[in-house]
Amino acid sequence: MRLLSLTLDGFKSFAQPTTIEFRPGMTGIIGPNGSGKSNIIEAIRWVLGEQSAKTLRGNKMADVIFNGSEDRAPLNRALVSIAFDNSDHYLNSDFSELKITRKLYRNGDSEYLINSQQVRLRDIVDLFVDSGVGRESFSVISQGRIAEIFNGKPADRRAIIETAAGVSKYKQNKATAEKR
Ligand code: ATP
Ligand code: MG
Repeated sequence: MRLLSLTLDGFKSFAQPTTIEFRPGMTGIIGPNGSGKSNIIEAIRWVLGEQSAKTLRGNKMADVIFNGSEDRAPLNRALVSIAFDNSDHYLNSDFSELKITRKLYRNGDSEYLINSQQVRLRDIVDLFVDSGVGRESFSVISQGRIAEIFNGKPADRRAIIETAAGVSKYKQNKATAEKR
């Protein structure tokens, strides 16, 4: 499984549709302060289902929608798409290429899509559970998070280890079954 591309359209400072293609190997994103590097990482979290506006440095979720600049009017919608090569079927899907899209409108309407099919947020979360890639995974580590992990409560640290070990899927299934 490999990250292929990321498209930001109306997400934070990306007023114009912008696609970043990831080649095999390592990719570094460089640019001056305030040029949007962190916004790119937040777009990855967001499209994978992040529900906390605070984690994305906002007060409310609509803060991710481009809110205008000196020469551009605010936009009405944010869209982020992320594409993965899944030919090894590492992610639990028959598709060998997966494109996940999330849209949010100012009126609060939102949409999630997998390969252009409308899905629930739950379907996206399920696709990434225990993959190490999902919205709460260890593959996106923000500033300050390392210290948080080391200084955290044992129970929180255990949750991180369980995700890394791939057992949180079973815990989630158990919790769902117990609710029924
Ligand atoms: P640094 O090197 O300082 O970490 P960075 O490259 O990570 O900078 P970001 O934090 O990604 O920069 O980008 C911040 C910019 O994004 C700010 O100029 C901010 O005004 C802009 N921005 C954030 N949200 C929006 C929004 N909804 N609409 C328009 N611009 C936005
Ligand atoms: Mg930054």
